[in-house]
Amino acid sequence: MMKQNGILVHSTGGRSTLPPFFHHKYHPQHLHYSTKRSLRVVKAAMSNTAGQVIKCKAAVSWEAGKPLVIEEVEVAPPQANEVRIKILFTSLCHTDVYFWEAKGQKPAFPRIFGHEAAGVVESVGEGVTDLKPGDTVLPVFTGECKECRHCKSEESNMCDLLRINTDRTVMLSDGKSRFIAKGKPIYHFLGTSTFSEYTVAHVGSVAKIDPAAPLDKVCVLSCGISTGLGAAINVAKPKKGSSVAVFGLGAVGLAAAEGARISGASRIIGVDLNASRFEQAKKFGVTEFVNPKDHDKPVQEYMRPIWEGIEIVGQSLLCSFKYSMVIAEMTDGGVDRSIECTGSIAAMISAFECVHDGWGVAVLVGVPNRDDSFKTHPINLLNERTLKGTFFGNFKPRTDLPRLVEKYVNKDRSHGLLEGALQTIYLGVDDLTVGLMLQELDLQLEKFITHEVSFSDINKAFDYMLKGEGLRCIIRMGA
Ligand code: NAD
Ligand code: ZN
Repeated sequence: MMKQNGILVHSTGGRSTLPPFFHHKYHPQHLHYSTKRSLRVVKAAMSNTAGQVIKCKAAVSWEAGKPLVIEEVEVAPPQANEVRIKILFTSLCHTDVYFWEAKGQKPAFPRIFGHEAAGVVESVGEGVTDLKPGDTVLPVFTGECKECRHCKSEESNMCDLLRINTDRTVMLSDGKSRFIAKGKPIYHFLGTSTFSEYTVAHVGSVAKIDPAAPLDKVCVLSCGISTGLGAAINVAKPKKGSSVAVFGLGAVGLAAAEGARISGASRIIGVDLNASRFEQAKKFGVTEFVNPKDHDKPVQEYMRPIWEGIEIVGQSLLCSFKYSMVIAEMTDGGVDRSIECTGSIAAMISAFECVHDGWGVAVLVGVPNRDDSFKTHPINLLNERTLKGTFFGNFKPRTDLPRLVEKYVNKDRSHGLLEGALQTIYLGVDDLTVGLMLQELDLQLEKFITHEVSFSDINKAFDYMLKGEGLRCIIRMGA
């Protein structure tokens, strides 16, 4: 036991299950807010704050692209159908970075970013019956009201009320912010704003999870890892022995590669502009690599056989033809599935055009710039290629996420992490090919966690992501 942030926590005793590759950067000596005892302590520390404004620290982004500033903020109590959460761990996803940079996105400042996190409910607003103070939770950027047609459909996670809305900067119920810093209201982000010691979220955007879950690990399931995994198993659904191209080998792309591997794909082709990703990606089952920078033959040389006579507009489009022709050459006409996890429009077009005609399916996951448009010749669709996209890997956050967490918690008892959960969820979605997946699932959240910083060093997490170093950086709140 050690005292940290005024709260008694259990140490993991420095025992690490990480591969040696990561040891020099990640130090998992920090906690688990996972035992019942430590949660009781957290709960006791919070018992007097319900209904009051809480003053705490938050990392405020005052201006696009400028370092976040740790400020004292006032966090208002939750209103009807809202909960206030004490965030214990958060991590950085590239979506936070795009909106912080605001180069290709609508600027909204000052704002509190953050959407991949884990914490404990501090208090609940009127009408909240599903959650109570002390519950361990993962806030999620896309919600599940459980009432609308989407929530009732087995096929959709696009809740009418709470689906992702990057333009919303205030709470849904009253159009106001729950944060004040230096006398000014501060905008919310994705309904989660987890770069704050306390945040307020709609109850429908909060998944209740097993209190035994190690929050410093499962926080990465609240966005990136579930998204990539689900993009593969729920959306692309590669068949056994098939080929899959994954564009972008960050945490989301590598989770997609894991999903492809457990689905039985035999060739997983990783595409990234950052060659340093390739060594890391081998640990996630990626079997071959393409770096577009290594293929600098004139674009026309690749394009001529197929594209003669078709007018091509725009440099990004030319670039995308280059990638797709390289992959087509490697795979005798194209991959069976592709999953794009970059946010680059050129990679999106390429991911679509590199799938085999007749049966190929491409899944877009990356968040595009607001002015991007997807251009391809309609013949690519007529030739029986399918283009899909997904948020959160088609998982329903409140229904499916607790099951994923449960299987992680019970991994020592089952032979593979998440295996049972995926089987259940996958069976729910489509039971046709379930027999061919999951024989060998060994998805370890630890593999995705390459850095850890204290809250006061949150800007370092941005530096790592901007430099393309590592995968997920856990930000330990209150330290
Ligand atoms: P990341 O920065 O860790 O990884 C992205 C990788 O893509 C990097 O390795 C980068 O080098 C590579 N890349 C960028 N442009 C490329 C190009 N043109 N060709 C090949 N590789 C390229 O980011 P991440 O956190 O893994 O997120 C990946 C994407 O997924 C982002 O766009 C993010 O916004 C998006 N995302 C979407 C959802 C969703 O629900 N749809 C959820 C989470 C993240
Ligand atoms: Zn994210």
